[in-house]
Amino acid sequence: MDTPVVGRFAPSPSGRMHLGNLFSALLAWLSARSAGGRMLLRIEDLDPDRCRREFALQLMDDLRWLGLDWDGTPVWQSERTALYADAFSRLEGRGLLYPCFCTRAQRLAASAPHRDNGEPVYDGRCSRLSPAEQEVLSALRRPAWRLRVPDREIAFTDLCRGPYQENLLRDCGDFILRRSDGVYAYQLAVVVDDALSGVTEVVRGSDLLSSTPRQRYLQELLGFPAPRYAHVPLLLSPGGRRLSKRDGDLDMGALRARFSPEELTGRLARLAGLQETNAPVSPRALAGRFSWEMVPRADIVVQPETFG
Ligand code: GLU
Repeated sequence: MDTPVVGRFAPSPSGRMHLGNLFSALLAWLSARSAGGRMLLRIEDLDPDRCRREFALQLMDDLRWLGLDWDGTPVWQSERTALYADAFSRLEGRGLLYPCFCTRAQRLAASAPHRDNGEPVYDGRCSRLSPAEQEVLSALRRPAWRLRVPDREIAFTDLCRGPYQENLLRDCGDFILRRSDGVYAYQLAVVVDDALSGVTEVVRGSDLLSSTPRQRYLQELLGFPAPRYAHVPLLLSPGGRRLSKRDGDLDMGALRARFSPEELTGRLARLAGLQETNAPVSPRALAGRFSWEMVPRADIVVQPETFG
């Protein structure tokens, strides 16, 4: 028998949700619910500088308004530091981590851009420090902690994007699991949480496609099962820029003032290839006809008049 599907939304409460976040959330919900699966909500509020509780409460209200429900009580990452600390020490105990004293400027100087996302590929310079050098630097600043990565390909097949692979050493470099201010990195937290919540399916924006090999590697090291992945198209403005919190006219405040939940879902469903017109529809009704084959792979340019 197939394992029951467990999907999740994992928003970061760093501002009001916008159309792009809602598009990913709708597809995550449809994928899980159309398979009769469970849907979980996790608030990714690890970064105290960027995240606010009011934004989290607001995004729950926005999801409910559209008709995207979830099972059980939401998980707040800010309350789960002990779990990340535990995974971190397991890796540290195996000698897989090392302290990195590079400043931001040094990190940028020590790197080439990542093939897909432009993030810096770290050259591993702090992995070559001697214990004496580490001691000197420790007196000057608190280090971040990096995971050593292997020189091998990590491959998987994405439900939406198809085959994807990356050599972690070449394409990403040793990556940070704990920041110098002590905050655990997204890559570690997401892997621990998905595994401990029994998530079988991760649906999220394709900006995170290139994070997945890092997450697969961490799952391997920590002995966690690998979920299935679907990285959905990003929504772009006509100029080709990714929609973001800066596009205030497409944030949920503005959208809720203009549309009913069904009208907005109808427009999103058309962008997602699930219907040919903008006809109003509920997420529940769409779940009856959802299939990944209908969803486009390439990013989608949103014409402002569709949501104006
Ligand atoms: N919290 C991340 C975001 O809002 C998503 C993380 C994930 O889905 O793995 O971009």
